[in-house]
Amino acid sequence: MKTGQINVQTENIFPIIKKFLYSDHEIFLRELVSNAVDASQKLKVLASNGEFKGELGDLKVEVILDSVEKTLTIRDHGIGMNAEEIDKYINQIAFSGAEEFVQQYKGKEGAEQIIGHFGLGFYSAFMVAEKVQIKTLARHEGAQAVQWESNGSTEYTLQEIEKAERGTDIILWITEDAQEFLEKSRISDILNKYCKFLPIPIFFGNKTEYIDAPDGEKDENGKVKRIAIEVPNQINNTSPAWTKAPADLKDEDYAEFYRDLYPMSFETPLFHIHLNVDYPFNLTGILYFPKIKENVEVQRNKINLYSNQVFITDSVAEIVPEYLTLLHGVIDSPDIPLNVSRSYLQSDSNVKKISTHITKKVADKLAEMFKKDRKDFESKWDDLQVFVQYGSLSDEKFAEKAKGFSLLKSIDGNYYTLEEYKEKVKTLQTNKDGKTVFLYANDEESHYSFNKKAMDRGYDVLILDGPLIPHWIGKLELSEENIAFSRIDSDTLDKLIQKSEEIPSKLSKEDEEKLKLAFEGIVAKDKFHVKFESMSEDESPIIITQPEFIRRMMEQQKLGGNGFYGAFPENYNLVVNANHEKVVGLMTKDEEIRNQSIKQLTDLALLSQGMLRGEALNNFIERTIEQVV
Ligand code: ADP
Repeated sequence: MKTGQINVQTENIFPIIKKFLYSDHEIFLRELVSNAVDASQKLKVLASNGEFKGELGDLKVEVILDSVEKTLTIRDHGIGMNAEEIDKYINQIAFSGAEEFVQQYKGKEGAEQIIGHFGLGFYSAFMVAEKVQIKTLARHEGAQAVQWESNGSTEYTLQEIEKAERGTDIILWITEDAQEFLEKSRISDILNKYCKFLPIPIFFGNKTEYIDAPDGEKDENGKVKRIAIEVPNQINNTSPAWTKAPADLKDEDYAEFYRDLYPMSFETPLFHIHLNVDYPFNLTGILYFPKIKENVEVQRNKINLYSNQVFITDSVAEIVPEYLTLLHGVIDSPDIPLNVSRSYLQSDSNVKKISTHITKKVADKLAEMFKKDRKDFESKWDDLQVFVQYGSLSDEKFAEKAKGFSLLKSIDGNYYTLEEYKEKVKTLQTNKDGKTVFLYANDEESHYSFNKKAMDRGYDVLILDGPLIPHWIGKLELSEENIAFSRIDSDTLDKLIQKSEEIPSKLSKEDEEKLKLAFEGIVAKDKFHVKFESMSEDESPIIITQPEFIRRMMEQQKLGGNGFYGAFPENYNLVVNANHEKVVGLMTKDEEIRNQSIKQLTDLALLSQGMLRGEALNNFIERTIEQVV
């Protein structure tokens, strides 16, 4: 037996590893299982290029819990190590300047980078173990098995042992304060998180399976008895969908993989994109488009980042632009530096390229879908629009491409691109200043009477709904000079699309003044601004409008982010149609009747807007009942 010093330049690297390097101690298992998988993969490579001539055998990795001995063993049948290799790969953690480096980073977010950087993967075992043994038999013919052991100080022992099977056992004696790693469910969870798609079969524990009784014994119904047996439980899928060629996958395979990824989700994604890049960087993956709901936050951050099928993180915010974090799925790239700090990631040029590439792929896919099957694309639009609008608002390149497939839904049920829609409405809906006005409502129901009046005039109304609409149409107005969006209730129809001809008023200035005072005596003055307009006779007698600008500000404020909080009180215009016969008729009534009529007309206007509520609504109903003969 030989004893020696692990070659680190700082004596006390281990306590530092234990305490500071990983906030997540569970990562030790990922590191050790990945090493085991690497050792198995390497053997395959050696076999394929003829350097290894023996039997590959069953290349599986086993994780074995022994709650009596309080050990956790990671066993592989890979390349193994001889004494010389142990010395080279395990004993010589010769990194320069380690002390300063560790001091500088300890406890900080970037600390994890030390592990990957200096190949400390194996040593992360000491975060949870007081003693670690390596028992290994190298692949070479006639190799001598060796055992390395260390208790977490910088001393180790190395001795020859008997070991029949090729490969490596890493045995961890779990410390008192890390006993959680002796619990089956905990280990199961960790493996499920990090190792679910590793390329070599990973076994942990047993599972129960039911088989026909081998001796053919029958039950009381005369059927062959089923008996329970324990079989080793393989926890991973070694060839997940993203590692396969798209041509070899059907839609069901993608759907099944989605369920594999998110077993707790009941969603069915709208469609997917299979990424496969090998230049200028390596990247594979599958991104799924979920149906995006009102509450986008709950759906965010579901993309899992892998490196060679090892799970790294589900926080990809640094790697993909924010709007893409609405997508689900997997990105696998060995080229993303995995163990560096977040701020570093954002400035890394590979990461930037990846991000640009994904954006391009996503936009291209949408464009292709639109071109290939427009009807199908339209049927998905309502679920897709938030994503496209979000992308257009946050990324100019995406916005540019999205112009071609961003849709507007008309109340007639048809979908139009911006260009198509402009063509459709420009003759009737261009105002005297040459702006084409796009009228919209949030839905058909709540603006019913407005919509109807507009359509009676031959105008079209868009149905625009969704959390990003106010921002998105604001952006369109900026980039398309000659269009303006106006919600159907933001002004009277004549004003919404103002044509040159003025309609003469049937009321004199004095009459208007007199009636205005009467109206003001009846409605809440702080909420309603009364004004008279000479509109077409077929317009409603009273229209309650809310200026487009103020409403959009309020909507944007609700979404958060423009800093005008509280600046806009609820405010409406009560616009009286000076040409409506009922309004003109008011002048001939005596005061009491006139006030009753004003009250009734106002309440009806409020009612049509869904704004008559509570006591006012009750009074209105009682009054109306009384009038029933
Ligand atoms: P890294 O994996 O980043 O190189 P590690 O500290 O995890 O750093 O491992 C150091 C080296 O030890 C590996 O590169 C490999 O050569 C060797 N090694 C570790 N685990 C095994 C194993 N299970 N079988 C064979 N070699 C191993």
